[in-house]
Amino acid sequence: MSNKTFAIIKPDAVAKNVVGEIIAMIQKAGFKVLAMKYTRITKVQAGEFYSVHKERPFYGELVDYMTSGAIVPIALEKENAVEEFRKLIGATDPTKADEGTVRKLFGTGIEANAIHGSDSDENALNEIGFFFSKSEVVGNQ
Ligand code: UDP
Ligand code: MG
Repeated sequence: MSNKTFAIIKPDAVAKNVVGEIIAMIQKAGFKVLAMKYTRITKVQAGEFYSVHKERPFYGELVDYMTSGAIVPIALEKENAVEEFRKLIGATDPTKADEGTVRKLFGTGIEANAIHGSDSDENALNEIGFFFSKSEVVGNQ
């Protein structure tokens, strides 16, 4: 089992100036940061990243939203990382997320829900590779 996961602090949270608070929550929960950057992506990149959702009605808006401002992609490590991180961020819809989760605290809607978290070990490794070259990830040198 992989001990890595991948996160993106999304444009709504970056615009709210809560990047530092979210990273503090992630670190306090015991995740080690392996790679991180403050960047923007193109519509082509966002479309590829979320290609699993391309038939869903929200896909076009999701691509527009993810390209509307800066994002912070982060590679993370912890035992049972994928599941532990999904617990930390909470349900997709912030109104349904548990108290104290990142999405409950910082999300503003089902689309602008502050943060992404990988849903499987396989996707975590693919998503880290989508944003970071191997040598940028701590431990991969
Ligand atoms: N999303 C949306 N409308 C929906 C469901 C999802 O805009 O009805 C967005 C939301 O930003 C979500 C992303 O699409 O985080 C990916 O959806 P997914 O079902 O994979 O949720 P997640 O894994 O992020 O909880
Ligand atoms: Mg998902």
